[in-house]
Amino acid sequence: MQKPNRPDVVQVALKIPFAQHLDYQLPEHLSTPPVGGRVLVNLGKNKTVVGIVLSFSDHSSFSKLKPIQAILDEQAILNEADLTLFKQASKYYQVTLGEMIFTALPAWLKKTANKPIPLQKWWRTKSTLEQATERLQAAPKQLEIYQYLLLHGPLTSQSLSHISSSASQICKQLAEKNLAQAEELCLLANEAPYDPGFQLTADQDAALKQLKQAHDKFNVMLLDGITGSGKTEVYIQFIQNLMLENKQVLVLVPEIGLTPQLFQEISQRIKGQMAVLHSGLSDGARARVWHHAKTGLIDVVVATRSGIFTPFKNLGAILIDEEHDLSYKQQDGTRYSARDLAVLRGKINDFPVILGSATPSFESLNHAIGGKYKWLKLRSRTNNNPMPSITLQNALNNKPSKGLSLKTLHKIESHLANGNQVLVFLNRRGWSPKLICNECSWIGTCDDCDAYLTYHKHLNLLKCHHCDRRYTLPEFCPGCGSQHVETLGVGTEKIADGLSQHFSDTPIIRFDRDAVKTPKHWQNNLEAVRSGNPCVIVGTQMLSKGHDFPLLSLVVVVNVDNSFFSSDFRATEYLAQLLTQVSGRAGRADTKGEVIIQTQFPDHAFFHALFDQGYESFAKSQLTERQEMQFPPYTYLAIIRAQHRDASLLDHFLNDMVVFCENNEQVSVLGPLPALVAKKQKLHRMQLILNANQRKALHLLIYQLKKQFNDKSIQWFVDIDPVSFD
Ligand SMILES: [Zn+2]
Ligand SMILES: [Zn+2]
Repeated sequence: MQKPNRPDVVQVALKIPFAQHLDYQLPEHLSTPPVGGRVLVNLGKNKTVVGIVLSFSDHSSFSKLKPIQAILDEQAILNEADLTLFKQASKYYQVTLGEMIFTALPAWLKKTANKPIPLQKWWRTKSTLEQATERLQAAPKQLEIYQYLLLHGPLTSQSLSHISSSASQICKQLAEKNLAQAEELCLLANEAPYDPGFQLTADQDAALKQLKQAHDKFNVMLLDGITGSGKTEVYIQFIQNLMLENKQVLVLVPEIGLTPQLFQEISQRIKGQMAVLHSGLSDGARARVWHHAKTGLIDVVVATRSGIFTPFKNLGAILIDEEHDLSYKQQDGTRYSARDLAVLRGKINDFPVILGSATPSFESLNHAIGGKYKWLKLRSRTNNNPMPSITLQNALNNKPSKGLSLKTLHKIESHLANGNQVLVFLNRRGWSPKLICNECSWIGTCDDCDAYLTYHKHLNLLKCHHCDRRYTLPEFCPGCGSQHVETLGVGTEKIADGLSQHFSDTPIIRFDRDAVKTPKHWQNNLEAVRSGNPCVIVGTQMLSKGHDFPLLSLVVVVNVDNSFFSSDFRATEYLAQLLTQVSGRAGRADTKGEVIIQTQFPDHAFFHALFDQGYESFAKSQLTERQEMQFPPYTYLAIIRAQHRDASLLDHFLNDMVVFCENNEQVSVLGPLPALVAKKQKLHRMQLILNANQRKALHLLIYQLKKQFNDKSIQWFVDIDPVSFD
């Protein structure tokens, strides 16, 4: 006989595209699993997978249910609010609940082998040295470890392994003697936070007051502060404020390279536990941060995009630094925006969300202008550094040598002579982005992609930046046999080479994906810059974000002209953000900064609109244009992306979709169009662009398309609120 209240059927979310959940039978020998906990179940013929318990039922519309195989969690790993977030997010991004949840879970928790999360024990001493010395007379190794812990603890037993290979055993022996104890810490709490006693600017003070006023309810605040206006100080004081109420805080940054910097700045100012969370950590370490955030042990987590899903015991706010950054949008799998999910999460849990940027996204600005977001402006610099002067230099008139004009080189020389540092920014790595034949205009392209090959001199080969395939350098033109094959254009490698020829005594420090391959290398380069010696930094996009180089007095921007020919309606927004961000890095207290932009179009209206009016006015006029042209943020966009080896099959498939959409008056459909990279790794890539005045209409149509076109022969997926047409 059934026990009362014991359900028969368990509804389980799985990483499957075809159903929100599957029903399983709860066998007699298992207790009732918690909602939001993991179970092991059978999927298909004989695959065992991890699922998340959603709910229970007394009956199922299916017969012959498979039994739950095992219960992995005694307590839920996701609470009701977490599940609500995933439910709403899955609806929004048009994926199943299981797909959404399994996008969020750390890899450790998705494994069927249910290994416990590797928690670290941190050992510290108890009792006095005298007592320990007396009691450990006959155990010299134990005494040695005790003394080391006394000086350097708390420490993990791994970090004592240089004293004894059985350090973990010895620590336990010390604990038995009541001379040491272990604590489950993930990182060390800062016992004595540092107070620099900053005098807040009037802007900072006003912003902080607003944040504090609205600290305990849902609202979104746009902290719109120019470079050097002290956004971080506002973050820190707000975090301190929340911690007084025992609340936890999640801080998101756009990339791994920025986590140590912000982590350090915050950690030395708060008395609490902090952790970083990003893809560079081991699976175990990531699961550990999840666990500690959920149990409430960690006060502040600094994380990259996927950190948005971290469960917390008592989350008080989410701060998103550089909110305009495209890295917050996941570009494969479930294409979610961490920024938008933060707002959703704040709404569900009723806490504030703070979006910070020197160049807010037009979406966020539009909400601030319309009053949906609170607009907190920081317009003065904390150090009173003047804003840099900007020179537009005609790249064609100035005989560029390896990418830099003579005038630019002279400028660099004089800034270096004054003991300053210089940044040359170029969003293109390698030596040259093209290899061409002067006789027949053959251009080197990738066999598998619709893309030019980039020449890398140190490897002496050609590389496709889309699929990473490598090609040897042809001696003769494959088109006509001519020997006059040469590289065209400049990348960071060539610029750096030209600079080291010109300034042979000055360090040239390169930041790009070829030159910096590990976080350690990245850190070394940063330290070389921060040592303060004159140097030239050459970098790509990697460097445009948040890094603070206080000794920089000149910024040179090379080759941004491609943006003027882009078919992406956001190209000018991105360019304005980039130029404002990199320009903001120039300038010191005693030297007015300078920015040189090398361009073929120095008279382009874009430059004047941006530099004469400033970012905010520029953004407003662009928003007016967007409204007239019926583009986001005034309409809602989705892209249907499809790929296949057979281009005509692909075209046919998407055309069928267009026909299906024809009668829908609320959604306009553009396409089929080739993607920006029309072929990648032998697959042709095409897309449909769906634009609607109402989000509901757009979502309904996509829902219908998903039902209608479920033929698995063509791989296609939906990107809601796309940020690129790539
Ligand atoms: Zn040729
Ligand atoms: Zn390729």
